[in-house]
Amino acid sequence: MITEMVMRIINWWRLMRYGRGRFPNIKKPVVVVRHEDLERLYDESSYKRKCPKCKDGILFVRREAGTLVIVASDICCACGQRFIYSDVEEMKKNDWLSPTGGSHESNKKNGCN
Ligand SMILES: [Zn+2]
Repeated sequence: MITEMVMRIINWWRLMRYGRGRFPNIKKPVVVVRHEDLERLYDESSYKRKCPKCKDGILFVRREAGTLVIVASDICCACGQRFIYSDVEEMKKNDWLSPTGGSHESNKKNGCN
């Protein structure tokens, strides 16, 4: 069980480091999903979600450099599957880092991503 987890982490890092060429889903069509519906990686905080395609990968949710506004498109770090978040506007509204939305409450709720 532990070995399996370690292997997964090693595989994940290898993919992160070495390669787009190895991403099996990188050329597949973009999938539109609701971020809200994806399985959370951790119980609390953070936008991270499990990749619904490969189950091993993580969707980190990307932000525009500079403005830190959440970007609708995302990519799985393991399989390369690309996603579009159909509920990105809601995410932005609830996002305390975004200049247009977020309150002190949601700040507490989401933690520091
Ligand atoms: Zn994946």
